[in-house]
Amino acid sequence: MVLKLTDGALFQSKALIGARVCESSSGSRVEVLDPATSQVLGTVPEMNSTDTQSAISEAEKALPAWRGLTAGARSDLLKKWYQLVTAASEDLAILITAECGKPIAESRGEVAYAASFLQWYAEEATRAYGDIIPPHQADKRLLVIKQSIGVAAAITPWNFPAAMILRKVAAAFASGCTMVVKPAPQTPFTALALGVLAGRAGIPAGVLNIVTGSIDSSIEIGTTICKSQTVRALSFTGSTGAGISLAEQAASTVKKISLELGGNASFIVFDDADIDEAVKGALAAKFRNSGQTCVCANRFFVQAEIHDKFVEKFTAAVKQLRVGPGSEADVAIGPLIDARAFEKVTTLVADAVRHGANVEAEGDVGLLGGHFFPPTVLTAVNSKMQLAHEEIFGPVAPIFKFDNESDVIRLANDTEFGLASYFYSKDISRCFRVAEAIECGMVGINTGMLSTATAPFGGVKSSGIGREGGRYGLDEYQELKYICLGGIT
Ligand code: NAP
Repeated sequence: MVLKLTDGALFQSKALIGARVCESSSGSRVEVLDPATSQVLGTVPEMNSTDTQSAISEAEKALPAWRGLTAGARSDLLKKWYQLVTAASEDLAILITAECGKPIAESRGEVAYAASFLQWYAEEATRAYGDIIPPHQADKRLLVIKQSIGVAAAITPWNFPAAMILRKVAAAFASGCTMVVKPAPQTPFTALALGVLAGRAGIPAGVLNIVTGSIDSSIEIGTTICKSQTVRALSFTGSTGAGISLAEQAASTVKKISLELGGNASFIVFDDADIDEAVKGALAAKFRNSGQTCVCANRFFVQAEIHDKFVEKFTAAVKQLRVGPGSEADVAIGPLIDARAFEKVTTLVADAVRHGANVEAEGDVGLLGGHFFPPTVLTAVNSKMQLAHEEIFGPVAPIFKFDNESDVIRLANDTEFGLASYFYSKDISRCFRVAEAIECGMVGINTGMLSTATAPFGGVKSSGIGREGGRYGLDEYQELKYICLGGIT
């Protein structure tokens, strides 16, 4: 182990299937790299279809007892897990920064955010009420109850190694589902540490199974999950292309599917906005995790009257962002996850410049090299450029100029995606008008941060199906059952 953790046992490098921490059936292992240094952090089992099938069987075996617990008993276990995750937050933050690259302060924030789903769903578990419906005939009584859907699976990305897992698992466990989780190959250690803590919390064996893989084995694992009749729900977070492929495969077993996919968030600054607040919000919405979040602002639209003022202030603030390894204090921008990500962002910026964009700020990453990309501001951007339509997933802020409200709504909605959107305005009527007109699942008004365990997270159009978080998140793991009781005299 190259990492210094207070609790060394949290660095688990074997997968979790039932009661066993185990190797893959093939014996093959795969390396996990630190994106800041390309140093090998360790290896994990490269699992395959056989291993995935074993995990599904263990989840199936554990289901009756887990589903049979009272909601209160499951709630108590989730609360215990929450306490252990919170107590281990510094070690978990170190793991997140090491394998995903984000600045350590952000990793601490991610652990708190991830843990908040355990706390929230521990509470929601006991409130999954059904309904009693006025009967259509005098001798009948009609009830609707909510039941766990059964064995569920989660496939998660590397950009929030803890939060994307707990956002799904907490809701699934609260609902009485057991789970098979496949973390991203880049970030398995955070997932496995969460598994260690789940065991210590008393979550019974087989309720949580973690199948690690590699970029080469992901598709095999995903296909096994999708084709399994035992797995009744699949929750995926990742790119739209992968989501479509998984949805197509899952259709063959008519699974309930929840997809949290890519975004192309607009960030609009109207001329009545507080510009300093908008700059603060823009920094938060763009540069978190080096621009590698699905709700990152992807396209900035600034009204003509205040365009130059906003660009000046925003550019000055961006030039202050320190780039470096996430483990160093005061670093605001860590590395991109890998060479492929670096290549993609480089190509998008080159395409924009070729089509006439001006580079207003391009921070210097000096000798860092590797996957570090400088925080960049582009102006004179137009919709012919690739980055107007694609998720940048890097620290690049393209700024479009617009004239009026109806134009900017049309421009903001001119995308296949519909995850998040942000805007700044002090006009309350405009706030409602614009929030209702933007085609997306989440809107931030006068704020650059909107995620919380208590509210529904998810998108429309090609950004996904279903919601995570809030009371709505339980729905993805429950079935409604209608009971009609006749013969009442
Ligand atoms: P990705 O390439 O789609 O991968 C996501 C995860 O799914 C990875 O673990 C990946 O493993 C796995 N995967 C992909 N295809 C699979 C298949 N056919 N079967 C089984 N597993 C499969 O996305 P990413 O590049 O890691 O993550 C970034 C994307 O996620 C962005 O588009 C971002 O917007 C989106 N995202 C969305 C949300 C949201 O809540 N809406 C949150 C975070 C991220 P491999 O790497 O081995 O292929």
